Amino acid sequence: MKKIEMKTPIVEMDGDEMTRIIWQSIKDELILPFVGLKTEYYDLGLKNRDRTNDEVTVQSAQAVKRLGVAVKCATITPNRQRVEEYGLKEMWKSPNATIRAELDGTVFRTPVIIPSIKPAVRNWKAPITVARHAYGDIYKAEEIKVEKAGKAELLFTDADGKQTRSTICDFDGAGVLQGQFNRESSIRSFARACFGYAVATKQDLWFSTKDTISKIYDQTFKFIFEEIYKTEYEETFKKLNLNYFYTLIDDAVARVIRSEGGFIWALKNYDGDVMSDMISTAFSSLAMMTSVLVSPDGKYEYEAAHGTVTRHYYRYLKGEKTSTNPVATIFAWSGALRKRGEIDGLTDLINFAGLLEKAVLDTINGGTATKDLIPLMDENVKPTAVYTDEFISEIKNKLETRLN
Ligand code: NAP
Ligand code: MG
Repeated sequence: MKKIEMKTPIVEMDGDEMTRIIWQSIKDELILPFVGLKTEYYDLGLKNRDRTNDEVTVQSAQAVKRLGVAVKCATITPNRQRVEEYGLKEMWKSPNATIRAELDGTVFRTPVIIPSIKPAVRNWKAPITVARHAYGDIYKAEEIKVEKAGKAELLFTDADGKQTRSTICDFDGAGVLQGQFNRESSIRSFARACFGYAVATKQDLWFSTKDTISKIYDQTFKFIFEEIYKTEYEETFKKLNLNYFYTLIDDAVARVIRSEGGFIWALKNYDGDVMSDMISTAFSSLAMMTSVLVSPDGKYEYEAAHGTVTRHYYRYLKGEKTSTNPVATIFAWSGALRKRGEIDGLTDLINFAGLLEKAVLDTINGGTATKDLIPLMDENVKPTAVYTDEFISEIKNKLETRLN
């Protein structure tokens, strides 16, 4: 068979542990036999991050800015235990945080849905994508434990020395205090990434906050979204018959559950953190969640939402076979190849991405699955649990059938 050709390389970010092993199998079995793959390779494995003083992470993010599309393997975010395990020079920052900061991006998480796995919410028919504003709010808040009675105030001193002051609470005893912030520039980037992604994937965009209670903080988010919609996206949305829909978060939660799915739900940082776990669990499992980082100027980095699956890796090192689910990582590859195809106008590459995804669904619907999926599957399918390599080779069989 003639291999499908590519024009521009995608940025390939290799990673750690079990996902690094699976990464190689996916390439060897499912991509390289069929595609004349072009990548610019960056090894974000922890050893190489340490060797390069984490320069490689920054370089890989700059490559995304240049080439526009990336695919990333899960990576270890070092903690103290990892510093010892790998003998690191430093407790390097999370690569995802570095890349996100460099690209000023927003993360969109989407479950892979499959007929033989029924979502916990019966009426969900299409995936719900959660877009989380991963900057500020309680994640960068300052907190004080109040020990006794006193006055808490909010004080802002602007660059010219002018002060604005507001009383938070006259404490009559012990309590707690928290100060949080966000930046207009970050909210704007978030809004643009969301509207842009809605247009790119032709889905409606929902946005919700608690603006009835938070009349300045949350309303600012609401107004910025409205303004950017009106001035930059309304025309395109109308042309594509898409909807931008703002509603209070309480109302959104109820509507999400009653919906059929098939839209993007944009959320502030904390709401997105919590709701994405709810959505992924209700659809199926973390191993079936894909994730894409999108910058406001339309650069894409695809990955699985899960981590490096450490426990499976330790078993692998002892020579045991594991039944680790590669689906989200395969969909990261198909997502990146499809986007590359769309940007470069390569129909064959776009089709290949679709067939690869269909081959995964064929395999699971045919009753071959990794261990984590078995309890979630329709009993009528009579699923069998297989090891990762068997699962991937069955996907390859199905892919070859589809390609012929
Ligand atoms: P994890 O790697 O997602 O694994 C947590 C558990 O979830 C696993 O032990 C496994 O359960 C199950 N699981 C996750 N993905 C699976 C898959 N593909 N197939 C089958 N089971 C799967 O999270 P973690 O253990 O908290 O973190 C491990 C490392 O990953 C850490 O060093 C962390 O820094 C890193 N991490 C990276 C990213 C990223 O790069 N985006 C994200 C999260 C975490 P069982 O063991 O019960 O089978
Ligand atoms: Mg969470």
